[in-house]
Amino acid sequence: MTQNVDLPRKHLFDMPEGLIYLDGNSLGMLPKGVGARVAETIEQEWGQSLIRAWNSAGWMDLPRLLGDRLGRLFLNAPAGSVSVGDTLSIKVYQALTAAMKMRPDRSVILSDSNNFPSDLYMAQGLIQTLGQGYRLETVPADDIESALSEDVAAVLLTEVDYRTGRRLDADRITRAVQDVGAVMIWDLAHSLGAVPVDMTANGAEFAVGCTYKYLNAGPGAPGFIYIRSDLPDGVQPALAGWMGHANPFAMDPAYEPGPAAERFRIGTPPIVQMRMLEAALDVWDGVSMQDLREASLALSETFIVEVERRCPGLVLASPRDPQRRGSQVSFRFDHGYAAMQALIANGVIGDFRAPDIMRFGFTPLYIDQADVMAAVDVLERVIVDRQWDRPEFQTRSRVT
Ligand SMILES: *Cc1c(COP(=O)(O)O)cnc(C)c1O
Repeated sequence: MTQNVDLPRKHLFDMPEGLIYLDGNSLGMLPKGVGARVAETIEQEWGQSLIRAWNSAGWMDLPRLLGDRLGRLFLNAPAGSVSVGDTLSIKVYQALTAAMKMRPDRSVILSDSNNFPSDLYMAQGLIQTLGQGYRLETVPADDIESALSEDVAAVLLTEVDYRTGRRLDADRITRAVQDVGAVMIWDLAHSLGAVPVDMTANGAEFAVGCTYKYLNAGPGAPGFIYIRSDLPDGVQPALAGWMGHANPFAMDPAYEPGPAAERFRIGTPPIVQMRMLEAALDVWDGVSMQDLREASLALSETFIVEVERRCPGLVLASPRDPQRRGSQVSFRFDHGYAAMQALIANGVIGDFRAPDIMRFGFTPLYIDQADVMAAVDVLERVIVDRQWDRPEFQTRSRVT
């Protein structure tokens, strides 16, 4: 058995009674301070200060201040290099567009054929916009380095695979990409708050991510974009909006980019969502990412050992080497969808990703070893008693 390195932070979350939540990698749990912050934002800032709140409550600066906080807490990125806003998909598009403009004599975007669909759709859409001669090339993640060439302008990869939890060697790949003169963009959707990230050491030009997964900022929470601090002067953002202008209230008909990452702002920021993120980040004060990583691996390891011992038919889809995993564990099972429905009906929430992946996220701030053992007890009953075979677990909902 792995040693117990639980992080005692459950008291900071509003946890539903009798539920074991192994889906914090899709939508994090509600931190206690969020509701009060939302109420204050609506009643005091909006209700009482009205338009004045853009200045008096600091609304205008939230995208930069929250970006700085993400940079400090999770990215080892200097102030000014991270901007919060929009959705991750849009931030992918902005990073890709900027990267293509930085390498005007090259024509290829290279990505992982198993990358998250939205990342690939954004690349496809951009390629169509750029027109003839440009193309998106996808290969399995393990073949990225051998697919590099001097035609490649930008490489877009997700560090931790959303299906299997496989974690790439980001530092090695970034070096290889930059060695052929291409621009590296990391999607950190399943990294932030799950594994230690150091953008300064990594040296990639761009990173993007979201905040509703391991960062617990709630449904619809804003995404972010990081740009290496020596770069912004040469970068004209796509989707340039007035909030990314050097001086939005000059109402200048000509676009002039704002400082550093702020140029990636587009339109009016969703202030309530930003306040939700701000409150959600409070639970991270004083958390060492090394401790978190250790706790996450201990939870994942317990889960793998126990599931393999007690649940026949489930095949590990995640890498066995803990260093090659993020903070989730996936198993393949032919009846995975129905089995997950049965599990949820028994109070253990994970999720399902087509075609046959049962996915379990381990979020050490609110999941401990006892939860993992209890979850495996339930899973064992679902599998051994063939609960997945019941008719009520066969119908698919829109969101799996
Ligand atoms: C979750 C996730 C997304 C989702 O993008 P949204 O625009 O926030 O819906 C995109 N890419 C990856 C890799 C993800 O894991």
